[in-house]
Formats: sequence, C-alpha cells, structure tokens
Amino acid sequence: ILTMAWQPFVGIISNKVAAKEAARPIQIVLANEEEHSFELDEAALENILLQDHVKDLNVVVVSVAGAFRKGKSFLLDFMLRYMHNPGESWMGGEDEPLSGFSWRGGCERETTGIQAWSEVFVVERSDGSKVAVLLVDTQGAFDSQSTIKDCATVFALSTMTSSVQVYNLTQNVQEDDLQHLQLFTEYGRLAMEEIYLKPFQSLMFLIRDWCYPYEHGYGLEGGNAFLKKRLQVKQNQHEELQNVRKHIHSCFSNIGCFLQPHPGLKVATNPYFDGRLRDIDDDFKTHLAELVPLLLAPDRLVEKEIGGNKVTCRDLVEYFKSYIKIYQG
Ligand code: GDP
Ligand code: MG
Repeated sequence: ILTMAWQPFVGIISNKVAAKEAARPIQIVLANEEEHSFELDEAALENILLQDHVKDLNVVVVSVAGAFRKGKSFLLDFMLRYMHNPGESWMGGEDEPLSGFSWRGGCERETTGIQAWSEVFVVERSDGSKVAVLLVDTQGAFDSQSTIKDCATVFALSTMTSSVQVYNLTQNVQEDDLQHLQLFTEYGRLAMEEIYLKPFQSLMFLIRDWCYPYEHGYGLEGGNAFLKKRLQVKQNQHEELQNVRKHIHSCFSNIGCFLQPHPGLKVATNPYFDGRLRDIDDDFKTHLAELVPLLLAPDRLVEKEIGGNKVTCRDLVEYFKSYIKIYQG
C-alpha cells in the first residue's frame, strides 16, 4: 500500500528531472550492425513526444544527418543554445564550454541510428500559434556496402520524419554524397510511394570547411548558387549522373545549401577544445549567427506535414511506428 501511494509522487519528480536537469540525447532508432536490422525504442520516443505540454501541438522536426566526426553535434549544441535563449546574444559567453549532443557521458556511442533531444521546445510564433520543436541527430558509418545500406534506411527514416533535413558534408558536394542521398531518398520513396507523391519537405545541404569563398561566398546565397551548378542536369553528362540530379529534385519540395567557413585549428585539432566561443574563428561565428536562426527562428520553423496534413507530436509517434515496420518487414 505504501509503495502504491508513493508512485505518483515519484512520477512527478522524475518528470521534472527529465524535463529540466537531465535533458540529453536519447537513442530512438538503433541499427544492429550484425543483423542489419533496425529497432525503434517506442518507449523512449513516447517519453519525449507524449509529454502533456507538447503532445497535441504541431511538430517541427529539424534533423542533422551525415557521417560521424563531421561536426554535427557541435552544430546541434549551438542549436540548443538558440532554443534555450533565442535573443540577440544566443550564442553565449566567450568562455562557456559547449554541452548537449556532444556531452561525452557515454551517451554518444558511435552507432548508426537516430537520436532525439529529450526536451521538446515549445515556440510561440508571431501569429500566436504554438509549435513543438524536436531536434534530431542522424548518423551512420559509410565504410562498407552493408553499412551503406543500413545508413540508407536510417537516413530515409529520418528524412521521412523530419520537416527540415540538414545534410552535413565537409568541403564539397562529392558525387558520392549525391549517390548516397539518392539511395536514401530512393528507400524513402519506395516506402511511401503508394501513399504520397512528394514525400519529403526541406533539404539543406550544409557544407562545412568551405574553402572556395571567392567562387561562391559563404552563407545561403553563395550556397544556393553553388548547389544550382552542382545539381544542374547537363546534356553531355553520364545518364547516371543526370538521374541522381533529377531524382533529388523530384523528392523534396524545397532544397537549399549553406556554405560554412572552417572553424579554425583549435576546433579542428586541439583535443582540449571544449567548445568555447573564444577558440572559434570569427568568420565561422558570423555565419553560424546566420545559419541557426535560418533554421530555427520562430517564423521560419517548418511544421511537419505528411500527405499535405500537419502532424502533431502524438501523430509523429504513430508515423515512426509504421515507417519502421516497412523496413523491418
Ligand atoms: P559528429 O560526430 O558529426 O557529431 O562530430 P562532432 O560534433 O562530435 O565533431 C567532431 C570533431 O570535429 C570535433 O573535434 C569538433 O571540434 C570538430 N568540428 C566541429 N565543427 C567543425 C567544422 O565545421 N569543421 C572542422 N574541421 N571541424 C569541426
Ligand atoms: Mg555527434
């Protein structure tokens, strides 16, 4: 009897802890590399999306996807700073170490899969409507044919469930990157073909360590010009190259590209670097200040739509469950 009576109290305490102190990345989809199977942690996903204050709000899912060790967590940590304090000085103080997705407490295993931030942010837009913002990290290893296939599945799943997919690349858009993207989207399309026509929403190529600013300037404008050239379908191109390009265009309702400068040697090479702004090149910070609000400013948030309908946090749980089944079956 005593234990029963204490249950609700314990529940409330742990809810508070989950919401405030212990916000952290939670693995929601895990690829089992030996069996080439996928697992959705339904309980973990429900804990995040079925919280009372968010479950009935329309959801915005911003995902950053790409290979390991390319600065995704670093970017997501800045996104978290913006979500916590979206004012003028959102980037924080010169000497504050970064925390969040890059938190090294054993949570960031290098496994192919999808992680979501445990805290869902409620944002009020200028028209008074409220939306719930979920931040997602999707990563994979591309070292063998079989892992590429696992990756494709995981990326397809995250592209299907996100409203903005940031495809994080370094230095350039290689033919490989486009082929991977084609494979990802092909998987996603096959899965959704019977149900919906244009399956995906926004895709943002994010090129880190861009080193040709004199050809195409840093930022969105330069990026879009660069991407237009890179995705151009030309008569004299090999058929395969043409198809990749056509396919990518046909999958997304919106495609953009952002060219981000190199963050400087401390970020790239110093093992003691802890993310503080003082150690990051000014050029990088200037463009980061442009990039993050571009993705997350209240009036720029893109609500997740499936088949033309807006999706709530609660709906998203169901979509995850049915999409994962497609790949398990
Ligand atoms: P993730 O595995 O993609 O999440 O990569 P991390 O965010 O953990 O970063 C991996 C390493 O790259 C860390 O040492 C970061 O300090 C560094 N890093 C972060 N952003 C950049 C970037 O834009 N360019 C370069 N060259 N290194 C970066
Ligand atoms: Mg990471």
